Order: sequence, then structure tokens, then C-alpha cells
Amino acid sequence: MAFGKTAGCIILAGVWAAAAQFPVRHEHLRKGCAGVMTVDESGVSFAGERHAWHWKYQDIQELKLAPSGIHLLTYEDSRLRPGADREYAFTGKIPAAELYTFLRERMDQRFVAETAEAAQVAGAPLWQVPVKHRGRRGSQGTLAFGADTIVYATARGRESRTWRYADIDNISSSGPFQLTITTFERAALHYQDRKEFNFALKEPITEARYNQIWLEIEKKNGRIQ
Ligand SMILES: [Zn+2]
Repeated sequence: MAFGKTAGCIILAGVWAAAAQFPVRHEHLRKGCAGVMTVDESGVSFAGERHAWHWKYQDIQELKLAPSGIHLLTYEDSRLRPGADREYAFTGKIPAAELYTFLRERMDQRFVAETAEAAQVAGAPLWQVPVKHRGRRGSQGTLAFGADTIVYATARGRESRTWRYADIDNISSSGPFQLTITTFERAALHYQDRKEFNFALKEPITEARYNQIWLEIEKKNGRIQ
């Protein structure tokens, strides 16, 4: 068994299991409570002063991972909002790069990586372009295309993303300076299971590159061979 230490967390890498354990704060409507989060083969656990929970991966409707926090959407009914599902928010110094490597092998499209740190994990990009992510509150950054991931890196908190090609439903473009990436991330409105990211490109995308990305997504989604 190998032990490695990073700030505030311990990574245990065994032959059959790997785990990360780190302190987090469970966010309440007012204030919050302190505890320890464990991510391992069995799922995600929280042990705190006031409550303890364990979720198997199949019971997590969406897990959002960011360097500043983890957000869980479960299939449990919300006690506060009728018709909504129960959510749990945890904040702290999250070992996002390590967790990304672990979770991308264990979770499907219900895993949302709100981090660009994984770019180092995925290797050097084949191509990248400076962009603006359009939105009510836009952000600027870089869109990088790798062999098996697309990364949007921005300094704006929780706006970064790392997508596996299988996390993307499709892409579309209205011209050389525009690209829309439609992902399986849940949109803010209830029960919507696609989220669109609309990018203004600061350099033009060639038709050949666009076609190459489109082809990768179609292949990874099993729509073409
Ligand atoms: Zn709490």
C-alpha cells in the first residue's frame, strides 16, 4: 500500500481500492457543521458532528466536484421543496485532481468535474482556443481539446469544466467564431438533463477541426463506429 500526502488529505492507493479522506464543512441554510468526507470504492461518506451519511455511486443523481467544494444531488425527496430532490453542499479544500482521477473511472455522466486541474491528468491538448463563455454572468478562459477530454479552464470559481467525450451529447456551431457544447450536466431548472455551454471563440475554428471533434463525440456515444 502506498501513501501520499497532499494538503489536508490522505490518499491511500491499494491494489483493489483507493480512497481519499479530507475535512469539509457541510453547508446549512444558516452556518454549517464540520466533518470528514471519505471517497472510496463503496461511494461517498460524510461523518460530522451532527450527522453521518453514506451514498453509493448509484444513489447519486449528480456529483459536482470543484477545488472549493462538492455538491451532491440525490434521489431522495427534498423535505423543504416539494417535487425537488435533496441536495447536499460541502465546502473546503478539496483534493480535486486526485478525486477526478478516481471518480472518472467509477462514475458515468452523473459526474460533473467543475475543475480544469484534470487537464494535467489528461495530457497535453491537441488544440486550444481562447474563449468567452456566454451567460448571464459570462467568464473568459481557454477551451482545450485533448485525446479523451475537453477542458474549459477559467479563473472564475466553479465555472471550469473537464468533460470526457461521453459527457457531451453534441456540439454545434453557427460560424467559425461560435461553438455550443451540449453536455449531460443537469440544467438549473428541475428535471432538465442537458446543459448548453455557448462559447464565443477568439480565434476561428476550422471546419476540419470541428468535424474531428464532432466525430469523436459521435463515436464515444456509440452513434457511429
Ligand atoms: Zn451539517
